[in-house]
Amino acid sequence: MKPPRHSSGQAAVFLDRDGTMIEDVGYLDSLTQIAFYPWTVDAIRMLNHAGLPVVVITNQAGIARGKFDEAFVGETHRALDVHLAAGGARVDAYYYCPHHPEGIVPSYTRRCDCRKPGHAMIDRAAHDLGLDPARSFMVGDKWLDVQAGRGAGTRTVLVRTGLGATEEGQRPVGVTADAVVDNLSAAVGWILRKHKT
Ligand SMILES: [Mg+2]
Ligand SMILES: [Zn+2]
Repeated sequence: MKPPRHSSGQAAVFLDRDGTMIEDVGYLDSLTQIAFYPWTVDAIRMLNHAGLPVVVITNQAGIARGKFDEAFVGETHRALDVHLAAGGARVDAYYYCPHHPEGIVPSYTRRCDCRKPGHAMIDRAAHDLGLDPARSFMVGDKWLDVQAGRGAGTRTVLVRTGLGATEEGQRPVGVTADAVVDNLSAAVGWILRKHKT
């Protein structure tokens, strides 16, 4: 299904989680592994103050792979919210894909269109929250984040944190980001300049 391009929804920022907001530790399966980048809270608070909804879009194949369950992902997101709130920042919604084609938990083992580089999570968030992808941005540390954003019709930013510095040198043919910057702080600076104009 193609996302509507005539939406009158508002601009928003879709954020990858691991490697973009917090360090990518592989399969994060314990709350003690949560490590915010030092600039993340300030960067998200700036988006909040600019009136841009912040929506996390994350692949959590660890669920299909039996490494943790959906309840743990919910717990992780509540822990992120507590840390953000302490710094006056807020994520408006979280969307995750629990699937993987090679999982071990049958109910989650399948091809799906929500797993990035698919864009069904962004489409769903836009529909649920009244957002306009064409006025929005997707930020992530992998080309699959950029592809998901492109597929949904957002502008895209690749950050060099997480796997980004490596990914930058391995750009798939035909995939380009609107900007490649050092981290989420720089991404938010770029977004706020574009959003104004
Ligand atoms: Mg990532
Ligand atoms: Zn999925």
